[in-house]
Amino acid sequence: MGWPVNSSVQQITVLGATGSIGLSTLDVIARHPERYQVFALSGFSRLGELEALCMLYRPRFAVVADHVAAVQLQSNLAAAGLSTQVLHGKAGLCEVAAHAEVDAVMAAIVGAAGLEPTLAAVQAGKKVLLANKEALVMSGALFMQAVKCSGAVLLPIDSEHNAIFQCLPGDYARGLSRVGVRRILLTASGGPFREMPLAQLQGVTPEQACAHPNWSMGRKISVDSASMMNKGLELIEACWLFDATPAQVEVLVHPQSVIHSLVDYVDGSVLAQLGNPDMRTPIAHALAWPERIDSGVAPLDLFAIARLDFQAPDEQRFPCLRLARQAAEQGGTAPAMLNAANEVAVAAFLERRIGFVQIPSIIESVLSAEAVSSVEDLDGVLAADARARELAEHYLNRCR
Ligand code: NAD
Ligand code: MG
Repeated sequence: MGWPVNSSVQQITVLGATGSIGLSTLDVIARHPERYQVFALSGFSRLGELEALCMLYRPRFAVVADHVAAVQLQSNLAAAGLSTQVLHGKAGLCEVAAHAEVDAVMAAIVGAAGLEPTLAAVQAGKKVLLANKEALVMSGALFMQAVKCSGAVLLPIDSEHNAIFQCLPGDYARGLSRVGVRRILLTASGGPFREMPLAQLQGVTPEQACAHPNWSMGRKISVDSASMMNKGLELIEACWLFDATPAQVEVLVHPQSVIHSLVDYVDGSVLAQLGNPDMRTPIAHALAWPERIDSGVAPLDLFAIARLDFQAPDEQRFPCLRLARQAAEQGGTAPAMLNAANEVAVAAFLERRIGFVQIPSIIESVLSAEAVSSVEDLDGVLAADARARELAEHYLNRCR
C-alpha cells in the first residue's frame, strides 16, 4: 500500500519526538489533523515510547540511535501492521530533516547532537521550528548564512525568542536600529535557586535542580535554567536570530514567567508578549505562522496572577551568565566551546560526579585554556566542540 499524502496537509518531521518539546508539538499537531500530518519521528533512548508514538501518529519514517534499535523497532511496527520505515543514526536524522516531501521540521533534539540534522533542514530550505538552541549557539554565523542561502524560514520556539519575534515588526531583518529598537529585554525566571542562600548551592541535588518552579522541561535544560546558563545560551541565540549585539540584549529576572520577553523602542514604547508558561503557545504560533491556531493552552488569568515582579540578575550567584556574555562578545569558537563544556559539566552533575557550583568553574577553566579562533566551516565548529569536551573531561577528573 502506498503512503497516503494529502497535499493540502503539511508534512511535519519532529526531531526529538520523545522529549518534552517533541511531545508538546505532537499534542498541538493532534488538535489539527486537517492541517498537519506527522511525516517522521525521532527518539534516542526511550524506544518503547517512540513505538507508542508511531502507533498513534503512523509516520512514514521513524529514526532511532543505531542499527540494533532500528531492527527491533522495525520488527515491532511491522508486527502491528504499520508500514513505517525505521532509519538510524545521524544519516537517518538528516534524511528525514531534508526529505523533499517535508514542509516543516521541529528541531527538538537536545544539545550538540541536534546540530547536523537541524542544519540539514535549513540547507534544504525547510520551515525550521528551532527549539534546539545549542545548534545555533555553536554554529551561529554558518547557520544564519545557510538560512539566507537556502531561503529556509526560521521560527524560534524558545518562549523568549518567540515572544521577541512577535514583538518585532515584520521587517526587523533590515536592522534593529533601523526599525527603532533600542534593546531587547530577555526575561528569566531565575530558576529554583534564585533565593537559596549561596552557601547551600554546593550541596544541591540533580532532583532539586530539575524541579523548575514554572516550566516542565528535559533534564539538561532544567539544570541550565537553575545555573542560568540557559539564559546565557539564549542571549547568544538572540544575537544571531535578531542580528543584535550582546550589549543590545539585557537579561531581566521575572519570577512569574508570564511575560516571555520584551522589545524596547526608541520612542519609549515597550512591547511584551504574555501567556501561561506552556510551550504549546510558541509551538502553535510557529507551526501556524503567520496564522493563529488553538494550542490547548488555558487563557491567561491576570486577576489570578495579580502581580508581576522584576529584578536584575545576580552574577555572583549565576557566573554562567557572565561566561556566556563573554563568549558572545568574543565570538568565533568561544560559544561552541562554552556550549560543549557546559554539556559535559551538566551531564557530570546529573550523574552526581560533581557539585552544582563546579559547573561554571569547569566551563571557565575550559574557556581560559584555549585561545578563541575564527570559524570557517562546520568542521571548525565540530573541532572546537570536541576540544572543549576533551578539556572539560580533564578538568572534571581533577575535581574528583
Ligand atoms: P528532552 O531531554 O525532554 O528531549 C530531548 C530529545 O532529544 C529526546 O527525544 C531524545 O530522545 C533526543 N535526543 C537526546 N540525545 C540525542 C542524541 N544524541 N541524538 C539524537 N537524539 C537525541 O529535552 P527538551 O526539554 O524537549 O529540549 C529539547 C530542546 O529544546 C533543547 O535544545 C532545549 O534547550 C530546547 N528547549 C526546550 C524547552 C522546554 O520547555 N523543554 C524550552 C525551550 C527550548
Ligand atoms: Mg527559553
